[in-house]
Amino acid sequence: AQPTPFLLSVEGLTVSFDGFKAVNDLSFYVDENEIRVIIGPNGAGKTTVLDLICGKTKATAGSITFRDKELTRMSESQIVLAGVGRKFQTPSIYEDLTVFENLEISYPRGRSVWGALTFKRDAAVRERVAEVAEIIFLKDKLHERGAFLSHGQKQWLEIGMLLIQEPDLLMLDEPVAGMSVSERIKTAELLRTIIKDRSVLVIEHDMKFVEDIAHKVTVLHQGRILSEGSMEKVQSDPKVIEVYLGH
Ligand code: ADP
Repeated sequence: AQPTPFLLSVEGLTVSFDGFKAVNDLSFYVDENEIRVIIGPNGAGKTTVLDLICGKTKATAGSITFRDKELTRMSESQIVLAGVGRKFQTPSIYEDLTVFENLEISYPRGRSVWGALTFKRDAAVRERVAEVAEIIFLKDKLHERGAFLSHGQKQWLEIGMLLIQEPDLLMLDEPVAGMSVSERIKTAELLRTIIKDRSVLVIEHDMKFVEDIAHKVTVLHQGRILSEGSMEKVQSDPKVIEVYLGH
């Protein structure tokens, strides 16, 4: 593929489920160091877009170019190695392991449980774990078991488990769902810290949070873009108001 100025270029992306186009000829572009938020009513196709980018769902048509790589031809694990991390809504941390161990196990060298339990805990791994723990506000909880963390801390830990792999694109599905206001504010801070080295693509329903973090908002409706731009712009777009208020 041709190199583009964008980190991620989605062009003409389409997927049909039994003839129903959940994503329909969708194109959008994400810059380096950008926080992009995808919003839209239930069933708009938001989750499907993330599934397509991470390779969980295969496109019927279109292309997804990440740097110089065409993701639609790659497997899910190749896409992870290419630098795309995806966090689902429910945290999937290891509850019996400590924060330190959860991060260590996610370090690229120790991706399998066996690998993580047997490889030498060298200084580089420790250092990286400490760095990530600081970013996710858990540096004082390194020896706490996952099970004893709050819901918000579990969400941050899972973000940390992805960050330790240093993805260039991090995709998050409703990261602040179920969080307290103070956790939501800290999550915004977390995102602002981590985009210094990457871009973030977020699905979100919490409009206060969107307002807080989004550089640009893409509004999906029936698998297509209804509106795109700053939060201010899309919020005042009559097409968006009509879809959200239903008249
Ligand atoms: P959103 O995340 O915006 O709520 P989704 O991407 O989950 O929307 O779904 C978009 C549409 O695609 C919905 O109508 C949903 O029922 C349909 N859909 C999603 N995944 C599948 C699938 N694997 N098979 C059939 N239909 C699906």
